[in-house]
Amino acid sequence: MYKILKKEDLSEQITLFDIEAGDIARKARAGNFFILRTHEQGERIPLTIADFDSGRGTITTVFQKVGKTTNHLGTFNEGDFLTDVIGPLGNHSHIENFGRVVCVGGGVGIAPVYPIARALKEAGNKVTSIIGARSKSILFWEEKMRGVSDDLIVTTDDGSYGTKALVTVPLEEIMMNEKVDLVVAIGPAIMMKFVCKTTEKYNVKTVVSLNSIMIDATGMCGGCRVEIGGETKYTCVDGPEFDGHQVDFDLLMKRLQAYIPEEHTARCGGKGNGGK
Ligand code: NAD
Repeated sequence: MYKILKKEDLSEQITLFDIEAGDIARKARAGNFFILRTHEQGERIPLTIADFDSGRGTITTVFQKVGKTTNHLGTFNEGDFLTDVIGPLGNHSHIENFGRVVCVGGGVGIAPVYPIARALKEAGNKVTSIIGARSKSILFWEEKMRGVSDDLIVTTDDGSYGTKALVTVPLEEIMMNEKVDLVVAIGPAIMMKFVCKTTEKYNVKTVVSLNSIMIDATGMCGGCRVEIGGETKYTCVDGPEFDGHQVDFDLLMKRLQAYIPEEHTARCGGKGNGGK
């Protein structure tokens, strides 16, 4: 059983948990994820490790209440216990001094990009971060991102804060003016697709972290398969990070839609396995 030590609502739909999970915290590296179950019959959901503290033995995660399980998870409070927490999973980010790096976090994707930006900064890179949200009320971790970046650009789709733009607008402006060695982008698939379309024009290596539907997360079920450069790869064991210019984003987005009717049934009290 894994205790929730801290709960913070970052917005109406976005929640942060610090979870007591010493073994995972000691081994976690930027880019890893973990799987949790809220109860014995619950579905397994993958969540990115947004931060970790090996001294305290905690991992931090930020999740959006979108489906039955994440809504159920949102009802947990400090002091409550999660049934299973397994990790760290997936390959960690490749960190070295690339030189000039731009980290792009869109929406909830700001949380997983944070430890990567921090690790890249610690490795000596010049890091510019771009964080974007639909609106000011759902933007989070501005100060945390500023703390691990040489420069921070904030965008909102509706112009309620920062620059009124999608994250790709300042990204393109940077690339038009200077040489960038690496872009790391995490957010909705459509954002990562358009980040990659932008960086392709300037031939800048782009790493994305994919959020495909996952079940066992050990490479056995094939549920998280994605197409990378025409080859089938499993996000859980081959990723979650891939060369963005090789990703078939249209297929990923199609597969992300595959269970929408079942998710709707589960949310409306049907027999989805995410509830009690
Ligand atoms: P969102 O729809 O609010 O979009 C966030 C930002 O992405 C926008 O503000 C905008 O700047 C940018 N964006 C969106 N569409 C774009 C486009 N067509 N072109 C350029 N930029 C665009 O994001 P959300 O509701 O927070 O969605 C979060 C998504 O991120 C979910 O799908 C979730 O599964 C995913 N996610 C992925 C990971 C991961 O590890 N890959 C981790 C957490 C969340």
